[in-house]
Amino acid sequence: MADVIPAPLQPRLRVLGSDDAWFPVRRLYCVGRNFADHAREMGAAVPAAADRGTPVFFLKPADALVPGGGDIPYPPGTSVLHHEVELVVALGDGARVFGYGIGLDLTRRDLQAAAKAAGLPWDTGKSFDHAAPASALLPADAVGALDPRRLSLEVDGEVRQSSTLGHMIWSVPDILHELSKLYALRAGDLVFMGTPAGVGPLVPGNRFRATLDDLLELRGAIVD
Ligand code: MN
Repeated sequence: MADVIPAPLQPRLRVLGSDDAWFPVRRLYCVGRNFADHAREMGAAVPAAADRGTPVFFLKPADALVPGGGDIPYPPGTSVLHHEVELVVALGDGARVFGYGIGLDLTRRDLQAAAKAAGLPWDTGKSFDHAAPASALLPADAVGALDPRRLSLEVDGEVRQSSTLGHMIWSVPDILHELSKLYALRAGDLVFMGTPAGVGPLVPGNRFRATLDDLLELRGAIVD
């Protein structure tokens, strides 16, 4: 039996610290409203630590991944493309944490806002081609404790977003616990952990640089 079309490419991320090692990607899960300062800037209710309810989840197609960043075409259908810099958790064997990267949860904010206002799904706001540039992965033991690590995003040299990961409302174990109630998590899954305050527009010509301390870096540019 032969395929009737060429097999679609398997998205994959480089693994730092070993020559020629790759992480094949299965699914992209995303967490909404995981930093109180971002929930506040979006006009959402800020969950109190003692009564945080359940996390907001959504997905992006795996082929929205842009491994290593680089040139990101400005997407169609929007005039408000927003950046959201996020920690990316990569699940390995047994759905245990393999390592971490950083990525942008690119968002067509105008489409998302219109969908929210109409009580409709957000999909077209969040799921589109090139919507998820992501860095190489660093094995978890090379990252150590997450809470003191600082996640930052610069656009054209100006700091737009910067927060330590200790400000996440739901920690990585919390999120994996909640996600596993809804989905069978597998090796190859990535989880975008939500963004701190400071989200804002990207336009053609902008260059971005995301970092997790001096451990991880993601660079790219928005192009026409
Ligand atoms: Mn996000």
